[in-house]
Amino acid sequence: MSFWKKALNGFDNRMTAPPPEPKLPAPIRQRDCSEDPKPHFRFYPHAYEDGNFEESDAKCWLCGCPCGWRYVASIYSADKPEVVCARCLADGTLGSGTHDTVASSKVVDKELWFEAECCTPGISSFNPFSWPVVDGEPLAYLGHADQRDLEKRAEVKQAMAALAKEFDWPEVAPHYAMIFRSLDGKHWRASMDLD
Ligand SMILES: [Zn+2]
Repeated sequence: MSFWKKALNGFDNRMTAPPPEPKLPAPIRQRDCSEDPKPHFRFYPHAYEDGNFEESDAKCWLCGCPCGWRYVASIYSADKPEVVCARCLADGTLGSGTHDTVASSKVVDKELWFEAECCTPGISSFNPFSWPVVDGEPLAYLGHADQRDLEKRAEVKQAMAALAKEFDWPEVAPHYAMIFRSLDGKHWRASMDLD
């Protein structure tokens, strides 16, 4: 074979060969990839519609499975993995904080707090916020009061009035008020998020 023919063959091979698979870190968790890729987050039930995830078949760096739903919101960790699936967030495999927050009470159930702080999609806020806790249990974030018609609900109006009183303000603008409800639905709280 002539020099040129050899060179061209090599060129053709390079053009037709599939691109090499990107080298991923070894998975830290063995997972059955057929597990439901879209777990529910009880402390942030509207996380998918709020844009915390995007549909993607990229391989999760933590379990090696195609994501299905890739987590795209914040992770507070020095060596954060680039690709994380919703399952690895939900079951604590990620294990890093996802919000800029502190619990509103020192008395808080440790397991529930870990779930809220590290296994729940990041709540987007302008400032560090206080996460309402009632009877040791963190409440679930439903949105800011101007989302999903929350501000029309009597319980939300009450929670916002209580927040205004706490700050000694006549009222709080709905887009400053983060609304939370206890998992049993009994307690409603608002937390301040000024821009
Ligand atoms: Zn994963």
